[in-house]
Amino acid sequence: MNPFTYVRAANSDEAIATLKREPQAMLIAGGTNMLDLMKEGVHTPSQLVDIRKLPSTEIVTKDGGIRMGAAARNSDVAYNSLVQKRYPVLSEAILAGASAQLRNMATVGGNLMQRTRCPYFHDIAFACNKRQPDSGCAALEGFNRMHAVLGTSEHCIAANPSDMCVALVALDAIVQTQGPGGERSIPITDFHLLPGDTPHLETVLEHGEIITAVDLPAMPFAWRSHYLKVRDRASYAFALVSAAVVLEIDGGEIRNARIALGGVGTKPWRSLEAEEVLVSAPAIEETFTAAANAAMREARPYQYNQFKIELAKRTLEEALKTVAAMSGGQA
Ligand code: SF4
Repeated sequence: MNPFTYVRAANSDEAIATLKREPQAMLIAGGTNMLDLMKEGVHTPSQLVDIRKLPSTEIVTKDGGIRMGAAARNSDVAYNSLVQKRYPVLSEAILAGASAQLRNMATVGGNLMQRTRCPYFHDIAFACNKRQPDSGCAALEGFNRMHAVLGTSEHCIAANPSDMCVALVALDAIVQTQGPGGERSIPITDFHLLPGDTPHLETVLEHGEIITAVDLPAMPFAWRSHYLKVRDRASYAFALVSAAVVLEIDGGEIRNARIALGGVGTKPWRSLEAEEVLVSAPAIEETFTAAANAAMREARPYQYNQFKIELAKRTLEEALKTVAAMSGGQA
């Protein structure tokens, strides 16, 4: 591991000023991803700026919704009674990810920033455009079973690994940031970037800009929501595919729908195509099948991940059926 210095920021202004002074400095919060990346030689910061002790751990009600501080622990969000009651899809997504020990350390902000689990990204012996721009992509001709089928480019096909962010996308979350240029409110669907020809750029955050909170807007129908994750083993595994579903159903008709997919996209994937099929349609199996087909219509498989397309359709259909059946289902 490269030598580096360490400072603990007392507040966000101090963290931002430190990052501005030191172009190679990086933030650390729970450290559950950062320390692995440093040990692998993928991240080589000159300085670590610890923001774990910033006063941003609260989970509070705000404008009919919920504000989660960036340093709130994943486990605190998952077991928060308001989150469980109003946004169960978020609680379920977090509990489907990692291990209890990791969830006790990982933070909301860190989860938004976690890097891909593409094995070629993590092994510095391989070519990787995301780690080193213009060096190539070993996954294109390699073992790409875990890789994305939506939002890929000829430069990168890595899947976004987060479960939490898939639920946040379905809940229209807003990411609050603070940086040298002031404060910003960024819709979660705009926060992560598609790889295009710059896969090393993963979010719209600028150097020196930090996440301060994530807001869940009021969504009265989000109690009817569910996260379904399919993986190779029952726990502590990344998603092959996952689906976050939020439905408002009235008189057997779908009034509102929020659909997001994990494991298949280069970013947490919002499916407006599926939502378009669902809204104003009857909450029946034929509708769910049509929505699942629409969600995967643009999918492009690679040598080893063709199976993800059918698996994603079946996962989304199953999640839709579960949500429709909640509290009377087709009421
Ligand atoms: Fe790197 Fe992306 Fe290719 Fe993986 S898929 S090797 S992260 S460029």
